Amino acid sequence: MKPFTYERAASPAAAAAAVARMPGAKFIAGGTNLLDLMKLQIETPPHLIDVNGLALDRIEATPEGGLRIGALVRNTDLAADPRIRRDYALLSRALLAGASGQLRNKATTAGNLLQRTRCPYFYDTNMACNKRQPGSGCAAIGGYSRQLAVIGHSEACIATNPSDMAVAMRALDAVVETVDAEGATRAIPIAEFHRLPGDTPQLETALRPGELITAVTLPPPVGGQQIYRKVRDRASYAFALVSVAAVVQPDGSARVALGGVAHKPWRVEAAEREVPRGAKAAIDAILDGARPTTENAFKVTLAARTLHSVLLEAKG
Ligand code: SF4
Repeated sequence: MKPFTYERAASPAAAAAAVARMPGAKFIAGGTNLLDLMKLQIETPPHLIDVNGLALDRIEATPEGGLRIGALVRNTDLAADPRIRRDYALLSRALLAGASGQLRNKATTAGNLLQRTRCPYFYDTNMACNKRQPGSGCAAIGGYSRQLAVIGHSEACIATNPSDMAVAMRALDAVVETVDAEGATRAIPIAEFHRLPGDTPQLETALRPGELITAVTLPPPVGGQQIYRKVRDRASYAFALVSVAAVVQPDGSARVALGGVAHKPWRVEAAEREVPRGAKAAIDAILDGARPTTENAFKVTLAARTLHSVLLEAKG
C-alpha cells in the first residue's frame, strides 16, 4: 500500500472541501472496496477523509411519504429496517443477496453505489485496462468476458456494475442527494447517477470532483410484488451473472431492472409495456441492441429465463 495521510471530517461540506483541496483525495467510510483497491495499488489516494463521524446514518420519513436513507446507513441495517422490509422489500432482498454478513455490517449505502467493477483485468495490474489506466487498452475485449457486459458497452470498456442494491434502487426510482465544497446540494435521479463507459470508463458516476453523497431518497411505496432474483456461479458471496429486480402489479404491469448486464443498472421503462406479453418479449425489448461476446451471449437467454421465473413467482 502506498503511504497516505488521513483526517476526520467535521461536516459534509467540510469533507467535500477537504477532498476538493487535494487532487486524488478520497472519502472513506466502510472501506470494504477502497481498502482492497489500495492494497493492490489500483487506487492510490494520497489523502483519505474519514466521513464516518458525520451524522448520516439515519433512515427518516420524507414529507412526500417516502424514506430518506443516510449515506452512512450500513447495508445490514438498511436491509433489516422494518419500513424497508414492509414497503421496499425489493431493496431489502437485493441487499441480502450481496456480499457477506461481515461485509454488509461495514458497507454503507453510498459506498455500495460507488463500488467499482469486478472485471478481472481491472484487478490485474499487469493487464491493460482503460478504467484503471486511461488509454492503456482493454484486455477484456477478446479476453475472458463471461462475467462482462452485453449492452451499453464501448470499444474502451465492457465492464459491469457489481452492485445488487443499485439495481433495486433503479427499479424503485431512487434519488441520490449530494453536497459540494461550497455547501451546494444536488438531487440526482438514480437513472442518471451511473454512467455508461463511452471513451471515459474511468468516470463511473455523475458526481463532480469533491461531491459527497449525503443520502438516497426513495419515493413513496409503489406496492406490488417485489422480487429480486440473482443468478450467480455459486450460492453466496458471488457477483451476479444476471439479476432481475421486478415490481409486478396485480394487473400484470411491471418495473424491471437488470443487473450483471451493463456498466450501470439496466432499465428501459418504455420496454416494460412488453412484460404482459411474456418474459422473452420483455427481455428482447429491454436488451434491444445487445452486443454480447461469444463467452457471455448466454446472458441474454438467462435474463429471459430469470424474468420468466420471477413473473411466475409473482403470479403465485
Ligand atoms: Fe478495464 Fe473495462 Fe476493459 Fe475490464 S472491461 S479491462 S475494467 S477497460
